[in-house]
Amino acid sequence: MENSRILHEGALTMGIVLSDKQINKMLEFMEMLKSYNRKVNLTAITDDLEIIVKHFLDSLTCIKTGVIQNSLKLIDVGTGAGFPGIPLKIYDKSLKLVLVDASRKKISFLEKAIETLGLKDAVALHERAENLGQDKNFREKFDVAVSRAVSTMSIVSEYCLPLLKKDGYFICQKGKTMEEELKEGRKAIEVMGGEIVDIIDLSLPVLGDQRKLVLIKKVKTTPPKYPRRPGIPQKRPVK
Ligand code: SAH
Repeated sequence: MENSRILHEGALTMGIVLSDKQINKMLEFMEMLKSYNRKVNLTAITDDLEIIVKHFLDSLTCIKTGVIQNSLKLIDVGTGAGFPGIPLKIYDKSLKLVLVDASRKKISFLEKAIETLGLKDAVALHERAENLGQDKNFREKFDVAVSRAVSTMSIVSEYCLPLLKKDGYFICQKGKTMEEELKEGRKAIEVMGGEIVDIIDLSLPVLGDQRKLVLIKKVKTTPPKYPRRPGIPQKRPVK
């Protein structure tokens, strides 16, 4: 099957309708990713079908939470090669997107991609989440935070929750390890001012991989001491 059909039909089985324009932009981004990936290592996934399902469709699962709406300020923490942030921005071009990653080469790729794809209101920042969370220009400034495959739930909660406005949402994308991580994650989520409001079970189209989206609402402001200095959340996770 053609790539455009896999993307279109895969999204449809998730209840998401993609226009030809959105599909073309996603496939254009896929080509950029593959061509850069030959020079610098951006992703381990290189097969077209796997990129479409495990990067693009998996990113779009975030839509199923219902909290990503028109013109919101969205931050993707530890975005890597742009997932889930770039597919979400292509899906809803009104989003005000900030992509953050600690890796310079990934951010360079994303700066180029934003320009080539003509994405407006999108920036890529080379920074650590711990620093952004203590920067007054970023702390408590976002409506929604997303983070995929960055760290355990406890650690990513310390990265993401300080960045959210009160009543904002953190969508934590997880696979099979969710239950295990939730044990220590619950404490950290509470300490950072969050509350779990939903856990959504999904399976990816075509390949069938199991996914879970943990939807966390920020119900209180985060205590000023969080996030702690770079590296500390990872070294001494709140639990
Ligand atoms: N979200 C992407 C990338 C996952 S790999 C995807 O799902 O495909 C994890 C990424 O998180 C790496 O690119 C790494 O540089 C970044 N990262 C890890 N800890 C970070 C931190 N504290 N601040 C910013 N980026 C971080």
